[in-house]
Amino acid sequence: CGIVGYIGQLDTKDVLLNGLEKLEYRGYDSAGIAIRDDADLHTFKVKGRINTLRERVDDSIASTMGIGHTRWATHGGPSAENAHPHQSSSGRFVLVHNGVIENYQELKNDYLGGVTFGSETDTEVIVQLVEKNMETYQDTAEAFRQTISSLKGSYALGLMDKQDPDTIYAAKNKSPLLVGLGDGFNMVASDAMATLKETDQYLEISDQEIVLVNRHFVQLQKLDGTVVHREPFTAQIDV
Ligand code: GLU
Repeated sequence: CGIVGYIGQLDTKDVLLNGLEKLEYRGYDSAGIAIRDDADLHTFKVKGRINTLRERVDDSIASTMGIGHTRWATHGGPSAENAHPHQSSSGRFVLVHNGVIENYQELKNDYLGGVTFGSETDTEVIVQLVEKNMETYQDTAEAFRQTISSLKGSYALGLMDKQDPDTIYAAKNKSPLLVGLGDGFNMVASDAMATLKETDQYLEISDQEIVLVNRHFVQLQKLDGTVVHREPFTAQIDV
């Protein structure tokens, strides 16, 4: 039911966990984060509260990039396995998702026959499709755009590629998601509440656009790859 992503200089696990706590009011049954250090992607997921997740996260991992999620289960019961982030079979991609993928069963049957799934969620189909599409396109942005094109339903998405230390990929359709802009960092969040400590500058994402979020720049693209230019706005929110 909530998403936070961060790429910058700060200790990511704190930014993500604090951001997720700000989203607690939306309701959720489980939560998780994936953070990246020089060596790998590290994923932590729990059923229950952000406090429980905080205790589970390995404090020794220094990370400046990650994605986090609070889940309100729609497909597959509330459990650590079904909590997000979900990863592709090879472990290369990790993904968080809010919303419902209406055609997940068709996508699974049509394109993912040989794939072993680790969860019962509609969401996992998305991350497995990204990995599958890499066989054809060998480019993560293109594989992500192709995946998005095949989805029916509602989604706010954040994706990380183990082989790319510089980009969080995001997209939305009928679920809220916006970019938070900073100096030397950028964020994505389903609600500005999750980013208020870091920024008051935002960039709107339209339905069926994808966003490449780097520490120093953000690029919006249409599904055909065309770059979209949009002015940021300042949010005045009293807390
Ligand atoms: N449909 C997804 C699931 O059940 C996402 C739910 C949500 O928006 O939190 O895992």
